[in-house]
Amino acid sequence: MPLDAADLSALIGLCREEIELHCEHLGRLDSAIGDGDHGANMRRGLEAVYRERDAISVLPLPAALERIGLVLVMSIGGAAGPLYGTLLMELGRGLAARDLAARELAVRELDAREEETDFAAVLAVAVTAVARRGRSGPGDKTLLDVLYPVQAELASHAAPVRIAECARLAARGTEMMLARRGRASYLGERSIGHEDPGASSCALLTMTICHYFKEQAPS
Ligand code: ADP
Ligand code: MG
Repeated sequence: MPLDAADLSALIGLCREEIELHCEHLGRLDSAIGDGDHGANMRRGLEAVYRERDAISVLPLPAALERIGLVLVMSIGGAAGPLYGTLLMELGRGLAARDLAARELAVRELDAREEETDFAAVLAVAVTAVARRGRSGPGDKTLLDVLYPVQAELASHAAPVRIAECARLAARGTEMMLARRGRASYLGERSIGHEDPGASSCALLTMTICHYFKEQAPS
């Protein structure tokens, strides 16, 4: 589904609301295996993006995503800021490069399925950039444990409800993992039995975005 300025502005508002609603919960998750600031960090990030939403949502999508990434890096702080920032900035850059290549090759308009395949490929590169930035990989008990399966679902053209459910379960699946990166890794075995806060915020945002797409899809 192509995103226009109204969609982007609405999505920014919905993501901000979702984080606001779960701010304390994210803080509690982070208190169990980190320093308790993840909810506040994410709230600060989403508030900053929300304040800029009018300027952001009129930009072409690649530039808008890149700008959101930059605002997140500057506002979230902690470990999560550069990681979420990298994700959004790389998504923006990847989509910009794809648009440029399509223009140069004068490729015909892509259909919805091809657009999805393209987006999934760009997301794969962005997720890899996050992994490189965090020097982390699958099973390390981080937000990547949500991003990898979500990307895989998108690549297989799963419906938004299915992607949302996948994100929810993936975040829950971090509970049994041993943290190998970030503050939680200092706890060693004691990190087992708690859901990762970054994975949880990532699932909440994914579910919010998927819900929006489901509502917008022609029935
Ligand atoms: P901080 O750990 O600096 O207090 P936050 O609490 O905002 O930052 O974010 C913690 C989350 O960031 C973790 O739950 C985890 O998902 C993610 N995270 C931390 N370090 C890494 C890393 N090296 N690679 C990937 N994700 C990480
Ligand atoms: Mg923290």
